[in-house]
Amino acid sequence: MQIDYKSELNAAQYDAVMHDEGPLLVIAGAGSGKTRTVVYRLARLVEQGVAPESILLLTFTRKAAGEMLFRAGGLLGYGLGGVSGGTFHSFAYGVLKRHHLLLGFERGFSITDRSDCTQLVADAKSNLGLGKGDRSFPKKDTVLDILSKSRNKEANVGTIIQNEAFHLLPYVEDMERMAVEYARLKKESCLLDYDDLLFELERLLRDEPDVAVSLRSRFSHIMVDEYQDTNRVQARIVKLLTGGRGNVMAVGDDAQSIYAFRGAVVANILDFPSEFPGAKIVRLERNYRSTQEVLDLANAVLANAQRKFEKRLYTEHTGGAMPEVVKTLSDQSQSRLVLEKIIELNKRYEMHEIAVLFRAGYQSYSLEVQLNKLGIAFQKFGGIKFTEAAHVKDALAFMRVQINPADSVAWKRVLGHIKGVGPKTADKIVQAAISGDGKALGRFTKRFAELMPMLEFLNQLRMDNPKPEASLGRIIEFYTPLLMAAYPDDYPRRQQGLEQLESISAQYSECDQFLAEINLDNPMEDAEEIRKNALVLSTIHSAKGLEWDAVLILDLVEERFPGRRAMQRPEDMEEERRLMYVAATRARKFLGMYVPESLYVRHLERSEPVRPSPFVLELPPLTYVEYKEGYGGRLQRPVQAQIDKPSGAGSMNAVSSASSGNSSESGGSGKDKAPVRLGFCHHKIYGRGKVLEYIPPDKYRVNFTGFGLKVIIGQYLEME
Ligand code: ATP
Ligand code: MG
Repeated sequence: MQIDYKSELNAAQYDAVMHDEGPLLVIAGAGSGKTRTVVYRLARLVEQGVAPESILLLTFTRKAAGEMLFRAGGLLGYGLGGVSGGTFHSFAYGVLKRHHLLLGFERGFSITDRSDCTQLVADAKSNLGLGKGDRSFPKKDTVLDILSKSRNKEANVGTIIQNEAFHLLPYVEDMERMAVEYARLKKESCLLDYDDLLFELERLLRDEPDVAVSLRSRFSHIMVDEYQDTNRVQARIVKLLTGGRGNVMAVGDDAQSIYAFRGAVVANILDFPSEFPGAKIVRLERNYRSTQEVLDLANAVLANAQRKFEKRLYTEHTGGAMPEVVKTLSDQSQSRLVLEKIIELNKRYEMHEIAVLFRAGYQSYSLEVQLNKLGIAFQKFGGIKFTEAAHVKDALAFMRVQINPADSVAWKRVLGHIKGVGPKTADKIVQAAISGDGKALGRFTKRFAELMPMLEFLNQLRMDNPKPEASLGRIIEFYTPLLMAAYPDDYPRRQQGLEQLESISAQYSECDQFLAEINLDNPMEDAEEIRKNALVLSTIHSAKGLEWDAVLILDLVEERFPGRRAMQRPEDMEEERRLMYVAATRARKFLGMYVPESLYVRHLERSEPVRPSPFVLELPPLTYVEYKEGYGGRLQRPVQAQIDKPSGAGSMNAVSSASSGNSSESGGSGKDKAPVRLGFCHHKIYGRGKVLEYIPPDKYRVNFTGFGLKVIIGQYLEME
């Protein structure tokens, strides 16, 4: 199949796609076709004879990589199965697994997830005897965050605390000791955490010439999307992998950097040209995604950033709907009004082309309840994941012991199901089991009747070492009575989840591969994605790189977005601002922003007033239209709209689309202030339109057929 690059790309994109050998940087704003450029370049390389096996494509999620390969395959007319695509972490896992002996793990290793890590932090604390009787000793989650930050930012624990958690300064020494013990515990249990994956890969590439040489000769081309969100070690890995040829393509947008809290450094993208001398730099300036109305608002969000971004995006999609700011009385009525909006938008857009975005996973719970009631299908990305559910972790813990008997974290989880076994005892049983101390084990099996059957089960499992699906089948059978005892209320739902897990596992031939992927990439999301026509709910972080026709953003209030902590630190505030920019630029045609005026506080059992997010307050008035929930739950246009209404007129129901006009609007007598009657008018460019509102002193809001809402100075309008 012949690809017509010239007609499907603009000149700058074409330049990047046709770039020959050597480093290439594409740096450009949201929706300018960066990812599209990578896709076409992939196709182009393969078309030119580069073997798919020698291309490495690194992106933020496995889903994104899959999608890009799928699209490139679509252009070529055949699949690109050979390309290695995925996240830095999953790539690192693959390499480390092959070289586990070099890492000092004779029998392989397992990967920990968040809750495993907090467990290890708790173990480290108790091993060191720290914090006894000290109620202000930092919580294990806090400690874990700081340890991980210290690694990702490559700064010592003291520096991180000084910068970000001043109040914990008295504990610096304790935490440094915990960091050492935490590392020791991982090593002892043959575990690697996410951060280890990257640092160990770097170490291999640096210290093991054979590994470095073989990887460099394998991958002749490396491509990295969303480069602004890489951290230091990721950038060094790219460099170590590139070798002499330097065929590396990095793509990103400095204004969309949203992972500084995990150590991402914008400097990586800005320093690219000096790190890779001779790099070709391509800037893209046309936005293909959004309407001018959406772009204007997004640009207004960035305009107040401390660090100025050189972005001159333009689009040819003009005449779209104005973005809406909707002030609701409470977070509960927010859910209801969002739901009404979704139903209305669904008349124009398919359900899976509508997305509701939020800062943190819990913020959509109340909406989820309402969606369930109405039977509206949705799929959720980000937030608490399926694999983090307790029952799923339980089942997986059995499999982890099967493949890595030294995995003390998994052991403890499994043993926790035995009646009477607390954390301390579990520890001792694990020690006895791992070290093969038969006597000690015997004492425990006598004390706890359920222990023997469990040990037998695990032992059999380990000896048979079945494939993932068979293993899960046996685990689920053994685990079901425990599940029913632990969750008498909702075990059927959880059982279903486990069956789903089992069917996913059928795609894998090795247990360790299955466990690694489910931890790193969440293949469940891929399975979910098959569900067409389901509304999308997503955290903003998980919405990166994606686009929908309509986007609704929830909870734009202080303390939620931006989050509480961000309001205290300028750098964090800047990151929240970029996050808001990412959220707004996901929309193609419609953007709605929801601002509840009160939030329900569970422990107080009442609603408390909140202030709108600064990101909304600082928007220039002409970048959006505002609606307000009146008493009785209907939406009204506030202030200006009221001026024009004949007194006594009911509130207009503005839930109907902004661009389709409001049929309930009467011609209006245009009370005192409006110099002309509200009716129809003519404009040289936009043609005939309906005047909806007079905006003192001299403007009108007009709805033009085909162009939507515009605010225009009176002298450019000819009134009918
Ligand atoms: P983000 O910063 O959000 O990751 P991006 O720069 O990667 O955005 P893409 O997702 O590649 O942008 O492109 C945005 C949209 O514009 C996509 O729907 C893409 O197909 C479309 N697009 C990009 N370039 C062109 C083009 N030359 N012609 C037609 N459509 C284009
Ligand atoms: Mg992109």
